[in-house]
Amino acid sequence: MYPDLNLFIGGKWRKSQSDMAVLNPATEEEIGRLPCATQQDLDDALEAAVKGFALWRNTSPRARADTILRAARLMRDRQEEIATSITLEHGKPLPQARLEVIRGAEFFEWDAGEAMRTYGRVIPAAPGHKFTVHHQPVGVVAAFSPWNFPMSQPARKIAGALASGCSVILKAAEETPAGAIHIAKAFEDAGLPAGVLNLVFGNPADISGYLIPKDPVRLVAFTGSTTVGRHLSTLAAQHDTRVLMELGGHAPVIICEDTDVQTAAASSAVRKMRNAGQVCTSPTRFFAHESIFDDYAAGFVERAKATIVGNGMEEGVEMGPTANERRVPVLTDLVEDACAKGATLATGGARHGEKGYFFQPTVLLNVPDTARIMQEEPFGPIAVINPVSSLDHAISQANSVPYGLAGYAFTNRADYIDQLIDRVEVGNLSINTLEASMPETPFGGVKSSGYGREGGTEGLDNYMDIKNVWHSATIT
Ligand code: NAD
Repeated sequence: MYPDLNLFIGGKWRKSQSDMAVLNPATEEEIGRLPCATQQDLDDALEAAVKGFALWRNTSPRARADTILRAARLMRDRQEEIATSITLEHGKPLPQARLEVIRGAEFFEWDAGEAMRTYGRVIPAAPGHKFTVHHQPVGVVAAFSPWNFPMSQPARKIAGALASGCSVILKAAEETPAGAIHIAKAFEDAGLPAGVLNLVFGNPADISGYLIPKDPVRLVAFTGSTTVGRHLSTLAAQHDTRVLMELGGHAPVIICEDTDVQTAAASSAVRKMRNAGQVCTSPTRFFAHESIFDDYAAGFVERAKATIVGNGMEEGVEMGPTANERRVPVLTDLVEDACAKGATLATGGARHGEKGYFFQPTVLLNVPDTARIMQEEPFGPIAVINPVSSLDHAISQANSVPYGLAGYAFTNRADYIDQLIDRVEVGNLSINTLEASMPETPFGGVKSSGYGREGGTEGLDNYMDIKNVWHSATIT
């Protein structure tokens, strides 16, 4: 059920001179060998993308949308096969992988519709003159997607680029290549012209370092950590290349005293453990009003302890392993640091089992501001729950990190909601739900969480240049 792994360049699948192992994080067994692109492969991908762009930018938006929709239909038809590959390489429970496939298809479907709505505008002008504004695809996109959502992360980038009329060279995550490979297969079968979508793998720093300075590359689209995003932005700036950056988050959740405490607590624990906490919008810093703190924390800990942890292929499993070996020591260190500084470990805090990269669902209470986890995104199944004395206190805690991606609150008070909308520094605020985005809503961060938006009516803006045309009827 795991696909053969190849590069996809100029409409053809190819192996390379060297390859690397892809492991199942639940069993640590090798499930595939992934080819690593050589410089010749990257040059071929650049040449193919230039040709693909020349063709695709002159393809009508409706024809582009038709191809994208055909590919999305194939992804839906292949849901079980794609979901199984995702669970094998990433570890998430199969039902969550199935939902990811549908979400990936929805990103394509939304952007396909937007392809036909990249409207320009007419600006009033003097008689004999016309000012018109046109949106035109930016060119070849170098895109880099991470391993936490093997299908929906590449889908976001490919959908935006292809709907806008750009061609793409995507370097998907080496740990989880199958999601992107299934997308490329669906586009091949849907009749996408050769060179419009190219897929490479290898050493991430070598590939970004080689591609970003190249002349045809007009946009760098990256999702991943703030550190790497900053590095790629710096490189792009040296070549005056635009960037779209979806970076880290460290989402706060404000639990007000008027909420239904037990329902909010159970919902929070379930959402925290989804994808083993490896989501840039994952709720992590929970600030509960002191009058309800004990009840909320008790409800959260009870539900977190009940999480069924195991191999994502097994029925009933709620949380799989973390996606790679690197996560476990990072998470262990964050817990040890918090406890050394005075936090209370209410549950979890260590590796789970002996095989696979599992980490226990973990809850830390009363964590001091000096603990590293109050500033560093854990990107794993760890929650911090702290008491706050007022909404002002909660908002100042929420805003106390450099990140600003997602933020959440539980309350029904209109005056609180007004304050939250005005003052919480995030790109996506959700009230009474811990869902952060849909294909039709713009997604992205403020502060160190990045710039640009994916999805919504704003999504294609990143992939388009704006051209103003001044047309005078006579020579002036
Ligand atoms: P990392 O920073 O090394 O890598 C993050 C992603 O960037 C990976 O997919 C990696 O392949 C890619 N990458 C790394 N160096 C690169 C380079 N020079 N050029 C191009 N791509 C490069 O961290 P990691 O250990 O893989 O992941 C942990 C951290 O990454 C987390 O703490 C989290 O902040 C962040 N992350 C964020 C998201 C997100 O959705 N925003 C997704 C995955 C990881």
